[in-house]
Amino acid sequence: MRDRLPIRREDAMKIVMLGAPGAGKGTQAKRIAEACGIPHISTGDIFRSNIKAGTELGQQAKAFMDQGALVPDEITVGMLMDRIHEADCKDGYVLDGFPRTIPQAESLTEALSRTGEAIDAAIDIEVPDEDIVLRMGGRRACLHCGATYHTCFHPPRLENICDHCGHELVLRDDDKPETVKTRLEVYHAHTYPLIAYYRAAGVLHEVDGTKNMDQVFAEIREIL
Ligand SMILES: [Zn+2]
Repeated sequence: MRDRLPIRREDAMKIVMLGAPGAGKGTQAKRIAEACGIPHISTGDIFRSNIKAGTELGQQAKAFMDQGALVPDEITVGMLMDRIHEADCKDGYVLDGFPRTIPQAESLTEALSRTGEAIDAAIDIEVPDEDIVLRMGGRRACLHCGATYHTCFHPPRLENICDHCGHELVLRDDDKPETVKTRLEVYHAHTYPLIAYYRAAGVLHEVDGTKNMDQVFAEIREIL
């Protein structure tokens, strides 16, 4: 972990995204990043790039992953701290998919505090569980060309047939009601407490995620 003080702009925005799986965090994170000219940082990308570059932390992470074990928070936070001290993060960044648990949030707070920094905004996209189940249960995918649809919000022209290649659409395992229910249970047990954590830190902003993507984004723009 680097100890040097990063040179950041006064108005740099260090943002974390909160919300249930399927609430639209990733989409909004990308739009914020684009609008603010700051990088969108997902833990998946950080893992891939560290492993590909063969960094020490990447090698350590890979050893855990190869054994099918969870990567310890210290390693993930270490990679994250390296990433946010790269030049393109001087004006801020949007974290997507981290932290996911209170111990991770505490490690992040602690690591940032070493350079006198803190998260400026935690944006929680609020969507009731019933809506999440409806949203994800309506997703359909074409395994042939990768196109995605939604039975209510983005239906194909012909029922259950891909517009692009004519193959049959499927409900992916990840979007099946049982899987969604399990993911929501994990979210409520481990990730939901972060809302209270960032509220206590005075940086929480809640937005209504049941509106359409443009309206949700407009609400976020007002906050930032
Ligand atoms: Zn297709």
